[in-house]
Amino acid sequence: MSTYRAPLRDMQFVLRELAGADAIASLPGYEDAGDVIDAILEEAATFASEILDPLNQSGDKEGCSWNDGAVTTPKGFKEAYKAFAQAGWIGLPVSPEHGGQGLPQLLLGPTLEMWNAANVGFANGPLLNQGAIEALELAGSDELKHRYIPKLVSGEWTGTMCLTEPQAGSDLAAVRTQAVPEGDHYLLKGQKIFITFGEHDMAPNIIHLVLARLPGAPEGTKGISLFVVPKVLVNADGSLGERNDVHCAGIEHKLGINANPTCTLNYGENGKGAIGYLVGEPNRGLEYMFVMMNAARFSVGVQALAIADRAYQHAVAYAKERIQFRDAAARNPEPVAIIKHPDVRRMLLSCKAQIEAMRALAYVSAASLDLAAKHPDEAVRKEHRAFVELMIPVVKGWCTETAQEVCSTALQVFGGMGYIEETGIAQQYRDVRITSIYEGTTGIQALDLIGRKLIRDMGASATKVLKQIGVSAKELGASPNPQVAALAEPLGEAVKGLGETAQWIGMNAMGDLRTAFACSVPFLRYFGIVAGAWQLFRGAKIAAEKLAAGETDEFYTAKITTATFYAHHVLTQGAWLRKQITEGAADVMAGSEEMFEVERRSLQTA
Ligand SMILES: Cc1cc2nc3c(=O)[nH]c(=O)nc-3n(C[C@H](O)[C@H](O)[C@H](O)COP(=O)(O)OP(=O)(O)OC[C@H]3O[C@@H](n4cnc5c(N)ncnc54)[C@H](O)[C@@H]3O)c2cc1C
Repeated sequence: MSTYRAPLRDMQFVLRELAGADAIASLPGYEDAGDVIDAILEEAATFASEILDPLNQSGDKEGCSWNDGAVTTPKGFKEAYKAFAQAGWIGLPVSPEHGGQGLPQLLLGPTLEMWNAANVGFANGPLLNQGAIEALELAGSDELKHRYIPKLVSGEWTGTMCLTEPQAGSDLAAVRTQAVPEGDHYLLKGQKIFITFGEHDMAPNIIHLVLARLPGAPEGTKGISLFVVPKVLVNADGSLGERNDVHCAGIEHKLGINANPTCTLNYGENGKGAIGYLVGEPNRGLEYMFVMMNAARFSVGVQALAIADRAYQHAVAYAKERIQFRDAAARNPEPVAIIKHPDVRRMLLSCKAQIEAMRALAYVSAASLDLAAKHPDEAVRKEHRAFVELMIPVVKGWCTETAQEVCSTALQVFGGMGYIEETGIAQQYRDVRITSIYEGTTGIQALDLIGRKLIRDMGASATKVLKQIGVSAKELGASPNPQVAALAEPLGEAVKGLGETAQWIGMNAMGDLRTAFACSVPFLRYFGIVAGAWQLFRGAKIAAEKLAAGETDEFYTAKITTATFYAHHVLTQGAWLRKQITEGAADVMAGSEEMFEVERRSLQTA
């Protein structure tokens, strides 16, 4: 049974020293944030470990059940959701005008991390509330905002995002759900699948945000509109009225995140159609979704980092307790805890280093979300918008893939007990797997990075970021601390290699786009590894300055050791990723599809 403790020391360090929490708290509208950051982090940590964590393993074991359209969540979830809502956690970044606390997006970094580490099955609910609130804030009419947002913020009702259909997964252009106008509303018919918290027993109403097509809408992405479809219709006075025709036809049996229901929703199967209301303008639904997706993809990146950190904490605790063999360097024949063995140390450090790099990159990106939204100078807002646009697919794609490696390594620390459900580490290994699939697979993030962010602006925003990394590398070189100064060369070389690889991709995209896309995922990984190093090494430099100023906290020494490990064990992967991309991209499409057919035929005959 694992227990989660929020890593408040590193969270505080990243927030204040790397992400510039004080500067964010001086932005217009966030003036009060500076005073409450510490209190919020501590309260969130308590809520995560006392309320959510105890339900993590039991929720996974019990799972959700479906009976004739109704879904029951695991024991304790209903009460935990009520407590979560009452504590005001749902409205953290929502404007006070809609009943929220109006706090910076930056605070979503640590708070989301805590909820998801403590209990990812639970945390997906509020995460989707957030998505629904943002969609309505972005494009809803005043009436829709007034009717739905306050209840979503208070947690009285919950929200969903209904995009996926059987034939429309990554490719939402294939959405077929129909919406026909009738008076002041629309009637929707169709089926959505894989809808997280699409039905449950935690709140009396569920507000579905649904993508659908109007009659005669253009084919493809330009003909998709966004609708609000409440499970229970809302009367003019705000009270609940008749049941709408949206029903849960079943829930999925999954590999992980068993504590939350993944639902098939049928709209309008019993009559004229489910009643829905248009959000924003017709045919602009996907455009609204893409604006919101930045926040949702950021959240899933943090979700993955959170699960990885939980797995790491669990592995450290086990490594300190499990006794096997004597210490290779000691004469004493007494067996020792496995943490003394070099390979176990390597595994733990590889988890720690990658987690700290992910956390640093994610929170710094969250700060940019705030600067992009609130900085008084338009030029600064624009610069941060470009940074966020570039970094979101990296935070989503790189963190979710890396977190899987971290969870696998953490499980390895347990040996055979890692494979046994009883210890709980297997749950993290299963839970983390979804993060690189939903909110756009890693393949889709990589297409976004290369196709939309790199090729479209001829590499302008990437070049800017790579230059910033180059400047940071030079600053490391000037550090009086020799360990920190030694980080300059590997970072400088890695960023140079990344820039050259980006140019190679740009050149090849002008010929056959398939060559550019063939290694888009390795490129995304390369980008993440270097960007993570950038932030982790900035942290090491600050830690060295603190130590030089007389601080004696072991945390600072560990930061430098961790960064040095990352330079040798993780950043070095950049060189082979570069080789893989520039020398191996052509191999990917070299053979014919027939070579896979041969495999299939032999399987069929076996
Ligand atoms: C547990 C769970 C919860 C979910 N929750 C929700 C939810 O709340 N709301 C919702 O709307 N959806 C939800 N989804 C759906 C999820 O977002 C989709 O499963 C995901 O976007 C991938 O779509 P797909 O499954 O159809 O895969 P496909 O689109 O069929 O992709 C299959 C593979 O092909 C690759 N691929 C596809 N196109 C390309 C391309 N052009 N280039 C390169 N590679 C490509 C993909 O990367 C992937 O590896 C959920 C799914 C699950 C499993």
